[in-house]
Amino acid sequence: MNRFSYARATDVEHAIVAHGGGTRGQHGNPQVAAFIAGGTNLVDLLREHVARPSLLIDINRLPLKAIETTPNGGLKIGALVTNSNAAYDEEVMRRYPLLAEAILAGASAQIRNVATVGGNLLQRTRCHYFYDAGTPCNKREPGSGCPAMHGVNRIHAILGASEHCIAVHPSDMCVALAVLDATVHLSGRDGARAMPLVDFHRLPGNTPQIDTNLRDDELVTAVELPPEGFAAHHAYVKVRDRASYAFALVSAAVGLQLNGDTIHEARCALGGVAHKPWRDTGAEAALRGARLTPQTVREFATALVRDAQGRRHNAFKIELAIRTVMRAFEAATQTSFGELTS
Ligand code: SF4
Repeated sequence: MNRFSYARATDVEHAIVAHGGGTRGQHGNPQVAAFIAGGTNLVDLLREHVARPSLLIDINRLPLKAIETTPNGGLKIGALVTNSNAAYDEEVMRRYPLLAEAILAGASAQIRNVATVGGNLLQRTRCHYFYDAGTPCNKREPGSGCPAMHGVNRIHAILGASEHCIAVHPSDMCVALAVLDATVHLSGRDGARAMPLVDFHRLPGNTPQIDTNLRDDELVTAVELPPEGFAAHHAYVKVRDRASYAFALVSAAVGLQLNGDTIHEARCALGGVAHKPWRDTGAEAALRGARLTPQTVREFATALVRDAQGRRHNAFKIELAIRTVMRAFEAATQTSFGELTS
């Protein structure tokens, strides 16, 4: 492990000043300073020499652990709320069960007890090559190449990838947050700002070393949920290689408002398929006013992956994504498409 200095921040402003901007962990190397909270991803990155900060700023004592109702009836979850505390919060379970289910589908209980909401947003891809400092990787060392492109790419992207990187974002929580139209609150040297969750993560393009649109001096302070939580009709379906403690091959989060069997509002995001949670608001708009039938949902799911590109080991994800979306719609409506067709 590389040598680094350690500092403990006592308030947000102090943390931002101590960080001093510069290139942070998720923005590639060389790295100057990194914030650490639960450390469930960063410690792995330090151990594998992927992250090499000269300064670690411990933010665990910052006052960002509250879950509060907002004036407009939404819910604001502090960035340092643990995944467990978020998932088992009474208001989250009652009003945003989709979020609770997605969080509980991720990691293990031990990890969820220390991993934070802010850290969940900022976790890095689980591409095997990225964690192997002995191999080239454009995300770790820009310009060095992408061995996943023609190597073992079973877990990699089918949507939104570039010729430089085909990694996926591994979060379950963020897939639900995308459906909920969550907002990310940030603080930096220029003050506070907010950004839609769907704009927070970025596609790899020519700069795969940059995972998010967070500025180098900014800290995630909270995630805000709007009032609509799709509590009546929602589902998070995660398909993975084993029943627990595994990242999604494909996942789908769905939130619906229904009038009988007519769709009033539909939102759907895919996980495990791209560098960010994958939504298509145009395809969702086409569902409004449509009858909920297997054909309708299959057409929607097919539209969602219309630009998908399969590679040697992951082409199966395209049909898997369609079926996972259909399964999620079934679960959200607590019915089966067999019943709907009869
Ligand atoms: Fe690196 Fe991205 Fe290629 Fe994986 S997919 S080896 S993270 S450049």
